[in-house]
Amino acid sequence: MANCESDNIDILTGLTERHLVPIDFLEDGQSAARKSNILVHQHVLRPFSLLRSAAANEGFDLRICSGFRSFQRQRLIWNEKLSGLRPVFDNNGKPVVLDQLSDWQKLQAVLRWSALPGSSRHHWGTDFDVYDASTLPKDYQIKLVPDECEGNGIFADLHDWLSDFFSKYPDGFYRPYAVDRGGVSPEKWHISYGPIATPYSSQLTKDMIQNALLLDGNVKYISVVLEFLDEIIERFVLT
Ligand SMILES: [Zn+2]
Repeated sequence: MANCESDNIDILTGLTERHLVPIDFLEDGQSAARKSNILVHQHVLRPFSLLRSAAANEGFDLRICSGFRSFQRQRLIWNEKLSGLRPVFDNNGKPVVLDQLSDWQKLQAVLRWSALPGSSRHHWGTDFDVYDASTLPKDYQIKLVPDECEGNGIFADLHDWLSDFFSKYPDGFYRPYAVDRGGVSPEKWHISYGPIATPYSSQLTKDMIQNALLLDGNVKYISVVLEFLDEIIERFVLT
């Protein structure tokens, strides 16, 4: 079986779409031709459909707002945040003024919410940001913040149900960022399919990330990234 690590480098670092398929969320009466632009790993499509059916039985309309993201897409987010074109938030959801920070502090502020290109779990197609479309008011802009997922939050019921479901079936989906270890902020909305994501996570190496960054050559603050790459991987990639 051809499944050695080198075969997967482009999957692990977001440089290919060959492992992906589009996922559709069709309403009654909608045409199957209406393809969504959300891509997921071909072997996660079925487990996700089963999770979605289980959620539907409880009245939730479980959907993905962000599935696969390519290296290039992650680079755009990274570069825009570091150029001030996209806001960077602190732990309390307040905008961070990057100008007042050292270069390494800037990177850490961005890394709290956004992965370094080449190291995002969204590259794999196994990880999704999810929400409940059944509670969505018209014109509501999904923010993906903790307040939406807790207490009286709009998606809190879905997340309470997901928590129960994940503890009942621990061999399927889980939340890789459930606990704040000082790296990536806790993201309740981010779920991962363990049977595929966990092997990917253990195959990803510093060399693979570094090579992807150098090959691309367009990632902002690349010299600071390379200087602190060990620490970035330890604090923000290994979860
Ligand atoms: Zn996510």
